[in-house]
Order: sequence, then C-alpha cells, then structure tokens
Amino acid sequence: MALVVQKYGGSSIADGERISSVARRVAKAKDAGNEVVVVVSAMGDTTDELIRLAQQVSAQPSDRELDLLLSTGEVVSSTLLAMALETLGYRAVSLSGAQAGIETDSRYSRARILRVDPKRIISELERGNIVIVAGFQGVTQEMDIATLGRGGSDTTAVALAATLEAKECQIYTDVEGVYTADPRVVPEATKLKKVGYEEMLELASYGARVIHPRAVELGGLYNVPILVASSFVDRPGTIICKEASMEVRNKVSGIVHDTNVAKVTVIGVPDHPGIASAIFEPLANADISVDTIVQNASIEKIADLTFTVTRSDLSRAMSIVETVAKTVEAKRCVADSKLAKVSIVGTGMLDTPGYAAKMFRTLYEQGINIELITTSEIRITCIISEDRVEDAVRALHRAFELEKE
Ligand code: ADP
Ligand code: ASP
Ligand code: MG
Repeated sequence: MALVVQKYGGSSIADGERISSVARRVAKAKDAGNEVVVVVSAMGDTTDELIRLAQQVSAQPSDRELDLLLSTGEVVSSTLLAMALETLGYRAVSLSGAQAGIETDSRYSRARILRVDPKRIISELERGNIVIVAGFQGVTQEMDIATLGRGGSDTTAVALAATLEAKECQIYTDVEGVYTADPRVVPEATKLKKVGYEEMLELASYGARVIHPRAVELGGLYNVPILVASSFVDRPGTIICKEASMEVRNKVSGIVHDTNVAKVTVIGVPDHPGIASAIFEPLANADISVDTIVQNASIEKIADLTFTVTRSDLSRAMSIVETVAKTVEAKRCVADSKLAKVSIVGTGMLDTPGYAAKMFRTLYEQGINIELITTSEIRITCIISEDRVEDAVRALHRAFELEKE
C-alpha cells in the first residue's frame, strides 16, 4: 500500500465547514487505497491571534511559553479534523508533534528538526487509522515544545514524508500551485507544471510564500516529490522534483518579492582588517541572519558598511551594531525598514548574459531606484523601496514574458 502525506494550510481549514470539506478530501485519498498521514496548520489566523494575546499580557513573553502557546493552534485543528473524519465513518487519530516523534533542538520559535521517531505513527497506521499530525512543532530533549518558525507546517509535512518514505508529499493551499509570481499581485501569472528543488528553494527563500524554504530544502535532500495544489478545487498543481522540465529551463521561471526587509548602514567605519568580523560576529552569536552585505570603496581609509536583516530582527541588530560602532569608532548607524526585495529566478540565467541588464532597465523605466543588488547563480535580487515593489513585480513579469498565453 502506498503512503501519502497531505498538508493543509490555515486558510484551507479556516472554519468547521472547511474542516469537514478537507475531511472528505482526506477520505478520498484513503478510499483510493493509500495509507494517509495528514499535517495541519492552525485554523485561519489563529497563530497571529495567539501572538496578539501574548502581547496583551506581556511586552516580552518568554520564548518557552510563547512556543507552547502557539503550538496549541495546530493541536486544535488536528483534533477537529480527526473528529470530522470519524463523523464520515473513518478511523482517525490526532497526534501532537511530540506524540508523532518529532524531536527538535531548543531554539524556540525557529527550532530545527533533529530526528523523527515514527514508531507511534507507524503503529497507528497499522491499526488502520488515518493519522493527523499537528504541524509546526516538535519536542526538545528537555521535553519542552518548540515551534519551527512561521510557515513551519510545510517542513513538518516533508520531514514526515521523508521519514515514512511516502510516495509524495502533497501541500494543499489556497492557490492552485506555484506561479510565475504571487497571483494576488499579478493576476496574469502562470502556474508552473514542474519546478526543480534548486529553483524552488530560491523562489521560496526570496518570497514565494506558498511553500516554506526549509521544506523545499528537505525535499531536495531526501528526494521527496512535493505536489503544491489547491484544497478548494480539483486541478493539477505544481510538482517540485529533481528535474525541471525543458519548458522551464532556459528562462526566468518566476518573479518573487518580499517586504520583510530592513537595512542597517554603519557610516564612517575605519577601513582596516577585523572590522567586518567585529560587526558580524556578535550578530551571528545573537542568531540574527544577515542577508545582503555591501561595503563601499573606502575614501581616505573610511568606508560605509550596509547590510539587510528581517524587520523583526532590526531592533536587536541595531542595538548590537550601535555598541560595536562605538568600540570600532565608526561615525553612526542608520536604519531603514521600508524596503523590499524583488528577485528574478531561473536556471536559464546560468552562464547567460543579459538578464541583469534587462532587470535594471525595466526598473529604471518604472522610475524605481535600486538600493542594493545581490545575486546567486540562478537569481538576481534588487532591494528597492517597499511602496514600489508591486509595480516592480508586474513590470518584470511583463518584461520577461511570463504571462499566460
Ligand atoms: P497556507 O496557509 O496554505 O500555508 P500561505 O498563505 O502560506 O498558505 O501560502 C499561500 C499564498 O502564497 C498564496 O495565497 C499566495 O498569495 C502566496 N504566494 C506568493 N508567491 C506565490 C507564488 N509564486 N505562487 C503561488 N502563491 C504565491
Ligand atoms: N500556524 C503557523 C503559522 O501561521 C505554521 C503554519 O501555518 O505553517 O505560521
Ligand atoms: Mg504557508
């Protein structure tokens, strides 16, 4: 018997009616002769609401308490889905992440999965149960509950699919698949039939919210085929797998954007060895991930150093950098949180000149100023003002001819 792992995101199970409709979809997969493991997110905006509640009672809630609180959202939806399946006459059991054997490190709010012990899931499947696992969470060695970061239920699903050697991990969401741009920003965006792990990882890391980057990374590592499809309509979705089709090779496969960007500039840094490590080591020790880094050419042994972080890390980054700036005798630090990233991604860019020039010209024609630029082998990213990012996405989507035929 084949095993499939299905994952349903928050909007797919936003209320009782939606949960019953998802139960019918899950039942269909079981009727088709599969063993079925389902991973659920919290219902609708539950996670945001729980965060708001925590902020009402505490300016700085403890990491441990916050993670345990947030994990309850997924526990609620998993139990309700199990009940809905039982109502339809199917045997189902819900498990928290800990019960499902998901062991994590103890980095609260961004824990990594260390190991999955699938004993309990396997025994429940052997009893004929459909197994519903609460996504986004695991248990630390100290038996505390840790969450995997926003959007982390995708990672739970792929980790389970890899461990259980599922034939496919199906991510069901509120769009029909992975598109050439966010379909809410570009209604003409095209659904991709297939996309390779490497390209999908860049798309996801630079803003295609539809699947979490760590889920894609795991999928690639364990070679788990991932289907992204709609939980609302029965239409073919996008397959994320090893080989992209010829169709998506040799060109830009998507335009992605991300508004969770803030920039820090340290002005007037003395230009001598050791300065960069003096600034970036304390940031790394504080677990702040730094993205784009630019140091301008020094004039009279004084340079400016600019880097970007996520907006939620900005205040911590600024307080660290302001302290370091004093010790290295830099002039001052400034922050800007009203920025966004827009990226073009595609394996077609490998060794092919002209993509960057076309991107820059398109932004210039829109009167959009580029603040910073970064690239990988298959991606070019420009950091621009947040209020122009959607214009940039639409213009680039047209310029690279990605619209539906
Ligand atoms: P879920 O709750 O199912 O996890 P998310 O809200 O996390 O769903 O992700 C789905 C959303 O991702 C879509 O509603 C869509 O607006 C957004 N999105 C952004 N970029 C893309 C893209 N390139 N293709 C498809 N969806 C995208
Ligand atoms: N509920 C969590 C979130 O909103 C995890 C997820 O949905 O994947 O981020
Ligand atoms: Mg999601």
